Amino acid sequence: MASTEEKTIDSVRQQTPSHPPRATPTCKNYLLDALLRANGLDSASLSPEIFLETGKDPFDSLKTTNFVIFPTTAVIAVLGTMQDGFLPGVAIAGFDGSAGMAPLFSDAQKAYKFKTVQQGHALAVPSSTVDLYLEVSEARETLNEYLRFFIEALSMVPHCASRHSADKRIARWLGSVYVRSPLKSITVTHEFIAGYLSLRRESVTESLGRLAATGAIELHRGIIAVRDQDLLIENCCSCGATDKQGLSRWQARARPTTPSCPATTKEVCAGSPRC
Ligand SMILES: [Zn+2]
Repeated sequence: MASTEEKTIDSVRQQTPSHPPRATPTCKNYLLDALLRANGLDSASLSPEIFLETGKDPFDSLKTTNFVIFPTTAVIAVLGTMQDGFLPGVAIAGFDGSAGMAPLFSDAQKAYKFKTVQQGHALAVPSSTVDLYLEVSEARETLNEYLRFFIEALSMVPHCASRHSADKRIARWLGSVYVRSPLKSITVTHEFIAGYLSLRRESVTESLGRLAATGAIELHRGIIAVRDQDLLIENCCSCGATDKQGLSRWQARARPTTPSCPATTKEVCAGSPRC
């Protein structure tokens, strides 16, 4: 007979999507939805979702890098590439944004690497197709709006790293990943969080333990389940409130009306208003 702990771990794992990719997208991507809407298109022409595995480069599952990846349930980390090989975290993108858009405008992608931090699904659209979407002025305005939101988040990185404690920065980071995916648990290693936030792995483990003691999260071998989002936000640094405002503003701009969640996603989303 399974122990209570095993049952809890099983229930957490059941919240992660299963292989193989589903033909019907789950909760769509805000940026892609807005680009399609500006072009008078719907999602019927898109290829089925791809599945992104935690810790892998999301572009590994594609034949070339000439794609823009729009996460639907996955979350991708954008990492800078330093000359000494260090890969500090720069930004994260879930169903609010994309990875791989920069090469449409410059060779900036060479300066970045990508890693999946929340395993899940995403839509991969050829870069040439996204280029065509952006010929429509409303689509370009949408992208400018997204970039404004993105740059606002980037501008807080140095302040947060130099002024706020590891405990609060980790809570903020978990909250940022959590609100970008309909999944309730985050499949990420302590080592990855340490690398992203330039902290020691031991410090991350200790901080997560303290956060778990508040009841905000539960820790299960490689999975962090968010149990109380309000408590998680309470434990964030002040940057968390700015994150929330920026994301809400962008979501309102990208999706003026909130569609009801498709029935096929109920087991994933559990009626979450984040969809
Ligand atoms: Zn901060």
